[in-house]
Amino acid sequence: MSSFTPKRIERIQIGWSCLNPDHFHFHEHVAARCIEKQSNKQPQRRWTPEMYADVIKRRESGEKFKAIGAKYGVGVARIIQVYDKAERIERNRVLHAQRQANSTAAQTSAHETS
Ligand SMILES: [Zn+2]
Repeated sequence: MSSFTPKRIERIQIGWSCLNPDHFHFHEHVAARCIEKQSNKQPQRRWTPEMYADVIKRRESGEKFKAIGAKYGVGVARIIQVYDKAERIERNRVLHAQRQANSTAAQTSAHETS
């Protein structure tokens, strides 16, 4: 007869919780990243061209990312992303305007030579 009785061993897992109750993170930095991801997603803010222009204007006038972000209720990491996008939009707009000006000039000169 065996005196061995199965014993239930409960393993204690120490982890980090993010805001999502379905998640369990073993590492703090992973949980932190998860929280940041969620907080980036939560306010489904629509950035209008005016807002992008305002972010660029504020940045160019020397305002800190932290202050600009605070105005729009987002963190520094997010406002830097927004600023990057705003710059891309601005660059495209300028390129497009230049291309249009160039093609108009080309058309005009072609018209003049004919
Ligand atoms: Zn998570």
